[in-house]
Amino acid sequence: MNCMRCGAVLDGIDVGAHRKLINRAAKEFFCRNCLANELGWNRAYLDQTVLRFRRWGCTLFPPLSAEDSKNEN
Ligand SMILES: [Zn+2]
Repeated sequence: MNCMRCGAVLDGIDVGAHRKLINRAAKEFFCRNCLANELGWNRAYLDQTVLRFRRWGCTLFPPLSAEDSKNEN
């Protein structure tokens, strides 16, 4: 699956973030760069927000891995 704006390959986090922040029923998605752009957020703020959702156990996202947890502040 690819970003509907720039064509970047999407991962589960991109899809989850789009569902959470734009439209839960979406069939096409933005990558996180395009999503941040769309929301008028900077990318770091989007990543922080996504991490918070994932830490809360939001089921729209893949579970946090040890790798992701290292990026927590
Ligand atoms: Zn994109």
